[in-house]
Amino acid sequence: MEFSQKVLSLAADAERELADIFSRIDKISFENTQKIMNAFKEHRVSEAVFNPTSGYGYNDRGREILDEIWADVMGAEAAFVRHSIVNGTQALTIGLFGLLRPGDILFSIAGKPYDTLDEVIGNTGTPGNGSLRDFGVEYMQSELSDDGSFDLDRIKKVLSEEDRVKVVFIQRSKGYLNRKTLSVDAIGEVIKFIRSIRQDCYVVVDNCYGEFTETREPCAVGADMIIGSLIKNPGGGMAETGGYIAGSARAVELASYRLTSVGCGLEVGATLGQNKNLYKGLFYAPHTTAQALKTAHLAAYMFGEKGLGFDVEPRWDEPRYDIIQAVITHSPEGLCAICRGIQAGSPIDSYVVPEPWEMPGYTDKVIMAAGAFTQGSSIELSADGPLREPYTAYLQGGLTYESGKIGIMSAAQEVLNSLK
Ligand SMILES: *Cc1c(COP(=O)(O)O)cnc(C)c1O
Repeated sequence: MEFSQKVLSLAADAERELADIFSRIDKISFENTQKIMNAFKEHRVSEAVFNPTSGYGYNDRGREILDEIWADVMGAEAAFVRHSIVNGTQALTIGLFGLLRPGDILFSIAGKPYDTLDEVIGNTGTPGNGSLRDFGVEYMQSELSDDGSFDLDRIKKVLSEEDRVKVVFIQRSKGYLNRKTLSVDAIGEVIKFIRSIRQDCYVVVDNCYGEFTETREPCAVGADMIIGSLIKNPGGGMAETGGYIAGSARAVELASYRLTSVGCGLEVGATLGQNKNLYKGLFYAPHTTAQALKTAHLAAYMFGEKGLGFDVEPRWDEPRYDIIQAVITHSPEGLCAICRGIQAGSPIDSYVVPEPWEMPGYTDKVIMAAGAFTQGSSIELSADGPLREPYTAYLQGGLTYESGKIGIMSAAQEVLNSLK
């Protein structure tokens, strides 16, 4: 991998100017690591919790203790974390189907949820496939304003007029949207507002990509349920697959009946030797998230106004509440160049060239660069984006800052080589 003088000096400038921000990120990682180690101590984690179970998985102490630790760390009453949840979308599906009943309304107040939920909700896809809509659950939405704030007038109107709203849904991270990611403070404020109108609905947060970027998670500010994927932040790059749900005891219980079956709930589920990866992943998660955050700041600096001149969101010196860095390229060539560069600067599959493709669950063609140890893992450096205006590349991850830096420098080099 050859880097031009321009790329090398940009990276050096970036690190000089980012020093204070990097040290703030280390402090957050320290505080979260302390929280996790305290929970390990309190729950007396020993080698025995790594023992595998098979079959029904009754009395799997490793699984039960990890659930308790997860709840403590997330500031929740209860939680479950399972390697058998295939992705974030399934975890979200379990949570939503667990809480919603025919005639209920699902009300999303941070704009359109993540693309893969369109078919789950029933806003797209084939009627009869078993979406929430097929089961008589209606959907309503409120947009975020341009400055990223909630539309409080509309939220108040809907919550006062529609007493069938059972779930208020908030996506913490920007996902594939050009909007701001919500801080835990902002989520806490809006939950207070919701509670001033209604006490009887569940507030559910899609927590994907947000975990451990701050020292609190949304349960600590009143969310009834938070949901995420283990091949993002909280798996720490160690979990091979999986998802989690945390929240109030009743909400988590209801979700557990969807995870397995009504009655069985969390009493079953063989862990097949996966426990160790999940414990180790949680242990690593604050540090790994910090590596990804630093990589994202570096990308914002190198691709933004200080570097190659793209619009970036967030800017290099803005606080961030998820690990995603959006680079708005305004051209398919720009988006594809960034993805090619990230792929070439990855530890795995660095010799392949990514191409746009029709991905299951997504509406537009998507290009993805992912040279990861775990397939599709986006806590490992990856870049992707839908082939639609304004051709935004979403970068995220970096198991180590050093490898993340190499990937970002490679992407910057590819952009310089192919566009300039
Ligand atoms: C990743 C993600 C999901 C779930 O996606 P999967 O690919 O199914 O894990 C949902 N919401 C957001 C905001 C995400 O970033």
